[in-house]
Amino acid sequence: MTYSMPTSCANCGETGVFRCSRCTMVAYCHPNCEKAYLSVHENDCKALLEKAITRIAGTWKAAFLIFRENVYTVKTKSVSQHQNKIIVQEADNDVSKSGEVLFRFPRSFYDRTKDQHAVLSAYAGEDPVGYLHDFLVHMIKGAFAYSISRTLSRLTQTLGIYMTARIREQKVSLHDPACATLLGPDKQSKVSLQHVLFIQARAFPNSWILDPAGAAYGIDRASMSTTAYANFVEQRVEINEFGTQRQLLKGYANIPGLCGLPFRLSWLAMDRFQAGVAQWKGNANLDLVDLIWLPDEQFVIQQRHLLANISTALADFRLGAEYREEISKTLLWEERNSGKSSTMAVITARRCPKTWFCALIKI
Ligand SMILES: [Zn+2]
Ligand SMILES: [Zn+2]
Repeated sequence: MTYSMPTSCANCGETGVFRCSRCTMVAYCHPNCEKAYLSVHENDCKALLEKAITRIAGTWKAAFLIFRENVYTVKTKSVSQHQNKIIVQEADNDVSKSGEVLFRFPRSFYDRTKDQHAVLSAYAGEDPVGYLHDFLVHMIKGAFAYSISRTLSRLTQTLGIYMTARIREQKVSLHDPACATLLGPDKQSKVSLQHVLFIQARAFPNSWILDPAGAAYGIDRASMSTTAYANFVEQRVEINEFGTQRQLLKGYANIPGLCGLPFRLSWLAMDRFQAGVAQWKGNANLDLVDLIWLPDEQFVIQQRHLLANISTALADFRLGAEYREEISKTLLWEERNSGKSSTMAVITARRCPKTWFCALIKI
């Protein structure tokens, strides 16, 4: 492809060997050229960083919704509308009775995109950060980490400019989830936790929240300044290093029996998701890194291709052998461990990850 990330120096046109350490959207041949071009570039720099963040967040959000549509883990017994809320009544949680774990998202229930979004996001606030971790890393690396590692030592010495961003996971409790409420089989449970990505750009007095579920479910913007986001959230619960949710979900997946099953299946689905990304890469001859720097029109086209590839790769997941095999294996385990009822397994599932999670926080 002739387009792609900038390769020639914005100042002199020579071969660019590193990119702007703040926005990463322009290239330079030498720190002297960066210095010389600073006054020209200064005004655009922040806007370009915003643009990169918006692209990453928007792609992440769209990919998350496709993932959730195909890995819909809530077993729906009934869906109803009460005032301005959608109430989803969960079915019995026993796979050996229902024989199903993941469900195709019932689009027919919801007319409005906002409602679909709300239900897909509800009860799965940790999904995007955990399952779409690798996907994000590859986009984010393009925007931040890639340029940091190559230019950090050089720039700190020459210009006193240092790394662009710090990326962490933030757990927030929503002030008022706009329109989705999930009711468990036994008791009412109101969903309020959301795991989001927190980006602090050190070069600017700004920070952003990347929330593919949308603040308070259904808000269309996938990235917001922390100030704007704060209007939708009640409190900050905790901040973890990037990667924590991924480890947590993987930990859940290792729990044998019914409790770990949805997580194991989600990991299998994640492989399909990655296969879709790989296919797009092959077709487009681009990396996720490149996506962030494409000219506007090409970005829209390639993003659409990427999402279509992911969607196709995931579409038949539940019809596949892996899926059926995993369910049979789990049911067999349950049978052999008949002394441990599924209630026991639930207790185990709750205790193990919690202990493990605490250990993670300490680090
Ligand atoms: Zn130059
Ligand atoms: Zn810049």
